[in-house]
Formats: sequence, C-alpha cells, structure tokens
Amino acid sequence: MIDLRSDTVTKPSAAMRQAMLTAEVGDDTMGEDPTVRELEERIAAMFGKEAALYACSGTQGNQLGVRAHCIPGDELLIHETGHIAVFEGGAPAALSGVTVRTLPGPLGKLDVDVLSSQLRPFDQHFPRTKLICLENTTNLGGGRCYSLEHMQRVAGWARENDLKLHLDGARIFNAIIAHGYSAADVGSCFDTISICFSKGLGCPMGSALVGSKDEILRARRARKMFGGTLRQTGIVAVTALYALDHHVQRLAIDHEHARLLAHGLASIDGIRIDSESVETNLIYFEIEHGRGTAVQLASALRDHDVQIGPMGGQRMRAVTHLDISRQDIDTVVEVVKNCFKAGFADRPLTGSGPYSR
Ligand SMILES: *Cc1c(COP(=O)(O)O)cnc(C)c1O
Repeated sequence: MIDLRSDTVTKPSAAMRQAMLTAEVGDDTMGEDPTVRELEERIAAMFGKEAALYACSGTQGNQLGVRAHCIPGDELLIHETGHIAVFEGGAPAALSGVTVRTLPGPLGKLDVDVLSSQLRPFDQHFPRTKLICLENTTNLGGGRCYSLEHMQRVAGWARENDLKLHLDGARIFNAIIAHGYSAADVGSCFDTISICFSKGLGCPMGSALVGSKDEILRARRARKMFGGTLRQTGIVAVTALYALDHHVQRLAIDHEHARLLAHGLASIDGIRIDSESVETNLIYFEIEHGRGTAVQLASALRDHDVQIGPMGGQRMRAVTHLDISRQDIDTVVEVVKNCFKAGFADRPLTGSGPYSR
C-alpha cells in the first residue's frame, strides 16, 4: 500500500527502533529521564529559547502553549483554517476557558492588516485579546510557508500591542528546509512554538513546546493536569533525537517528490491543481465536477493499493513523507491516471475520511 493520506503514517525505521532499544531512561515525572532532558535542552537551544517541554502530541503542545499564555476569559486570534481552531476538538474553550476568533487570509496565513483591524480595545465588555496563533507550514492552507520577513512583521506588531505570539510549528522543519531560514530565526519571532516529531520527522509520537522558563514552567504544570506527563519517556523521546540527526535535511526529498507528484497530477484530464503552488510536502487538488467525488476517487485508488485523503467534496490531499520513494510517485500518477480513464463516479458516495463522523 502506498499511503499518502498523511506524513503521520510513517513507521519507525530499524535504526530508530535500535535507538529505542538502547535509550537511557528514568522517571520523567520526577525529572529524571536523561534522554528527555537532552531532547528538551537541544530543541530549546535550536530555537534560541530558554526551555522546552516534551508533549505527547502536537495538539497537546499547542494547548500547553494556549494555557501558558492565557487565563479564562481571554481570546486568541487565528486563521479560520488554523489547526487549533478546526482540528483540536474545541480544546482552547474546554481546557483553558479561552475563546477563539477566526480571521481570513490567503493560503492559511495572517498578516498585520487583518490582525490590527480586529484588535479589541481594552474594555470590560470584550474578551481580552491575549494571543495570536500562526501556523507554519499551513496545513489546510496548502503546506505554504511564511517568509521570515512576514513572521518578523507580525512579531513586531504583536510586541507593540502587548500580545503573545504562538507558532503551531507542526511542520516547521518543512518550512525551514524549504525557505532556508534557521530554527533560531523562527524562534526569535515567537514567544512559544510547538514542533511535531510525528509528522515529516518520522517519529511514532511526540512534540515539543519551546518558550521562556516561565512559560514552560506553566506549561509543565498544565501538562500534568492534562494527563500528559509520562514516566520512562526517553524510550520515545530518543526517536526525536534520532530524527533531528537523520530526518531533517532529507525533508528536501519529500518536497521534491511533492513537486513531481503535483506535475504528474496536473497532466491528468479531470484534475485541477496549481502545481506551482506546492512549496513543501502537502499537495491539494480538486476533481472536476461530473467526474466523481473525492470519496469515490479514494475508494477507487484503494483498490489499486494507493491511499489519498478525501477532504470533503471534490478536494483531496496527498502528503509525501519518508516512507514514499521516487518510484512510488511514478506508480501513484499512473494509478490515478488509470482511475480517471476507467471512471469512478459509480462508486458509493460514503466512506471514511478525516471529516467522517
Ligand atoms: C498534525 C498537526 C498538529 C498536531 O496534531 P496531532 O494529531 O495532535 O499530532 C497541529 N497542527 C498542525 C498544523 C498539524 O498539521
């Protein structure tokens, strides 16, 4: 099966499992896991921050960030397609008493013009606007990256207005590799950043939140409350250390594969895609009306051992990752082409996907 539904489907490699076998561990709740400490120190230093905290998931990393900055009655501003707003089960409200206000912008990105027009004056009537959340790369925005200048512009504006700035950096290393800025450059723009090891970096689980000592102390307390503080955590944290050594630079290969796939898909009659818009490892495309829906195409592809995620209606998302080879890309283009030739509009209209209930 060639699985392009997400970069989360990767399986730990033999070398990564070997690292797990020999990881030094201790009780991390007691602060005694040397591998976790090493990871936290290393990721904090990379992003030029005072401290870091290992988290179970990207969602947890984001929610620890929200909790570290906000108190009940506060509000955060985020793009309307932001993961924190759309894909985290209403967690800011449920876990931190924080309301979410969503704003528009091209490609999943927010800029100072929209943000400043929405800033609430300080007044007892209004929720207190406390936190701005950006996403880099943007997920529903198409795997697009913020330029360093863009991040710096929002950061300067946030500082002037006494607002905190959090980055959902689930795929920040994809942006770093695609754009050539450094982790420290990114770190200098944000108060806190959550980083996923379980996406393009190929770990079975885990994220980190980086920030100031105070913020990470608050996040550490929240992680305990949220039930995310583990014991011999080094057994999985070691996979993140391994990935930082071996799986960062190679993200360029995933991006090259994504461009190849986008160009291949663009050559298929019945698919609409702007292949020039593919910047990292996410490829979104539309099926022309009358040819069938995304769920129907996904079902046809599965019969030929290819999985691509239906995103509702005519929209599909393919994601390249470290378990996808150059040969796989050629195979996928061939299989999709054949599905369009054979037709798939007669298939059942229901199926499973990220949006199914
Ligand atoms: C995947 C992802 C997350 C984290 O999701 P988990 O399922 O908790 O790992 C956060 N933000 C973005 C943009 C993501 O793509």
